[in-house]
Amino acid sequence: MDTNPTQTAFTKARHAQQHRPTTRELSDILLRYHDLILTRQTELLDTIQAETGKARAHAFDEVLDVAITARHYAKIAPKALKQTSKKGALPVLTKTRVQREPIGVVGIIAPWNYPLSLAISDAIPAIMAGNAVVLKPDTQTPRTAQLAAEILYQAGLPRDLLHVVPGSGSDVGQAIAHTCDYLMFTGSTATGRKLGAIAGERLIGYSAELGGKNPLIIDETADPEQAARIAVQASFANSGQLCISIERIYVAEALRDAFLDAFVRRTKALRVGIGGWDYDMGSLISAEHAHKVHEYVQDAVAKGAQVLTGGTPPEGKIYQPTVLIDVPDTAHLKREEVFGPVVFVEAVGSAAEAVEKANDTDYGLNAAVVGRPKQAQAIARQLHAGTVNINEGFAAAWASVDAPMGGWKASGVGRRHGVEGILKFTETRTVAEQRLLPIGGPENLSREKYAKVMTSTLRLGKRFL
Ligand code: NAD
Repeated sequence: MDTNPTQTAFTKARHAQQHRPTTRELSDILLRYHDLILTRQTELLDTIQAETGKARAHAFDEVLDVAITARHYAKIAPKALKQTSKKGALPVLTKTRVQREPIGVVGIIAPWNYPLSLAISDAIPAIMAGNAVVLKPDTQTPRTAQLAAEILYQAGLPRDLLHVVPGSGSDVGQAIAHTCDYLMFTGSTATGRKLGAIAGERLIGYSAELGGKNPLIIDETADPEQAARIAVQASFANSGQLCISIERIYVAEALRDAFLDAFVRRTKALRVGIGGWDYDMGSLISAEHAHKVHEYVQDAVAKGAQVLTGGTPPEGKIYQPTVLIDVPDTAHLKREEVFGPVVFVEAVGSAAEAVEKANDTDYGLNAAVVGRPKQAQAIARQLHAGTVNINEGFAAAWASVDAPMGGWKASGVGRRHGVEGILKFTETRTVAEQRLLPIGGPENLSREKYAKVMTSTLRLGKRFL
């Protein structure tokens, strides 16, 4: 009998996974989950807010996200997981099929910034693909994940198919990484690298959604007022504690002054505080994190940056939304992710310069472009990022759950959402049935003749297959 809670969870999960519901039954459970998440939203919102201090509207984004994800995978999974036929080695003579099987027990290690979304939205496709899940929420936000799991049990999921094991990264997180059959991680790039090394050593599948230093390009064809509205939402949603939020803005020189006026005016108008629907922005996760964010700003200011709004010392967990200009290259926040409500603005002389600056980063998670669709699309095609939002900051691509999302470069490996977001939790089995003739030709065919026949077959195949 295991006495360690993580090992006990794995033992139970492995057993439950062997006796899991059918794909159809899992799909029905997820559709009931969709409804229950919406029905029990007040409880969820209260718990998320109590743990994170985020604005209620931003907590609601999580509820929305989980409901959409549950519905999406409930609907697409039966087809996505079905056996498919492929072209065989020899036409007609080889019948080739690809089957998909669950991997076993998926380990999920989640961060604190979206404690509902980022814990459960990956568990949903993992379970829907037939796996069991052992999930570790962040130490600061365990109750949200536990409540989300309770609601999933209420929807009919056998309890042992999903275990939430709270605890530290060094204890529970490491135990999960060393025991699971597939590891899904969301969090910092530093931790992502460490976990990737473990997954590599163990030769298990690994997917990681990591940090970002996401750029917003404001093209000269943009309307400055609309650009400012988008920039405020993109930079300060969830108090900037969002891997896909904007921390760098490159504005066309001709629009610089009009944009900055509108952006600063709108930022100053944000209602910041902890409470109900009336607040536009909540607190940060902790006073300690607010202090860290302020240190980034102080470093930039000491090196010559100008503060247009915000930048004042934190009041407890609250940090005012901050807009900076003239940030020198030596400032830490020029390239490092702040993960707070701090953004800098820089004027650029051309779209080419904007693209070059946007791509000059170790990260590649999200990017955004504001401008006329034709110009914005042309810019988007040149950006090195897993998602590009046009005339939106991040929400359009994130909420397009039918499309893959994830990071280039140091922003991650693998993808969530889309069909990729469920198929990664499966193993494939290719079954090729050879009929009538063996691949090597009839037994009485000499090797030389076989070579001739195959040479002609290849020539024909190039033309017709
Ligand atoms: P973090 O890496 O410190 O922690 C994330 C999770 O990993 C927590 O549950 C933590 O307990 C666990 N953990 C930490 N060290 C571990 C270890 N050595 N072994 C096993 N588990 C360990 O990240 P954070 O600071 O809590 O989260 C913020 C970061 O997450 C930011 O960089 C942000 O950009 C990123 N993030 C990325 C996405 C995305 O989808 N790309 C989403 C949200 C957050």
